[in-house]
Amino acid sequence: MITYIGKPCKLCGTNEKILGTKRCVYCRRKSQKEYHAREKEKKQLIEKNKQAAIVQKTRIYEGAACSRCHNARRYIKSNNCVTCTRSNIIAYYGNVTKHKTPEERWAELRPRFFDTKTDDEFRGRGFWV
Ligand SMILES: [Zn+2]
Ligand SMILES: [Zn+2]
Repeated sequence: MITYIGKPCKLCGTNEKILGTKRCVYCRRKSQKEYHAREKEKKQLIEKNKQAAIVQKTRIYEGAACSRCHNARRYIKSNNCVTCTRSNIIAYYGNVTKHKTPEERWAELRPRFFDTKTDDEFRGRGFWV
């Protein structure tokens, strides 16, 4: 990172700038620090959720939002997203109407392959979703 002395920043008053982006060094550091603090907080919350789920003996916890579907429900054991795992099952078995949402496809597929009508029933039989 190359810096130079430019016009004083309107926000913090320091005049050290980053060459190229012309952003203020102090403000950049500050926003990075805030970002890391937020990320740390998020991680701690996720860990807390996970531990609570383990205590409750459930297999799913609220984790980081999935990069593919943005849902946060994950399996404790694999750390994989619940919705994506389902759509992988759907993709594997194929032959299910394509324009539906993963949830709708799941509702269509579950009775076909697992003989369960509701998610509760599915869980009741010891399946992991
Ligand atoms: Zn600044
Ligand atoms: Zn997902």
